[in-house]
Amino acid sequence: MKTYRLHRCDRNHKQHDAFMRCAYPKAAISGEGQFAVISRCTRPHVITLYTNPAAAQEDVDALVCDGLCVFDHEVVHLDLNHQQNWKHTHV
Ligand SMILES: [Zn+2]
Ligand SMILES: [Zn+2]
Repeated sequence: MKTYRLHRCDRNHKQHDAFMRCAYPKAAISGEGQFAVISRCTRPHVITLYTNPAAAQEDVDALVCDGLCVFDHEVVHLDLNHQQNWKHTHV
């Protein structure tokens, strides 16, 4: 599982949903928790947050998006303890 820690501002987010809204301002985001199921099949991307990694994995295995689903889905872990502004890593 990948770890995501990059976002677009210099704040220190406490909430995972706020962090993902910052990292993916155009995505449709629901739920709360440190595990995110990201679907890139659709525009906007759909992100659902989970506290339980097993539940996230189960849902990503069963996920079929509305419309054209190309199964571009993944589960990632959000590491808010080491969050960074993406600009500092792309200089
Ligand atoms: Zn941010
Ligand atoms: Zn899909």
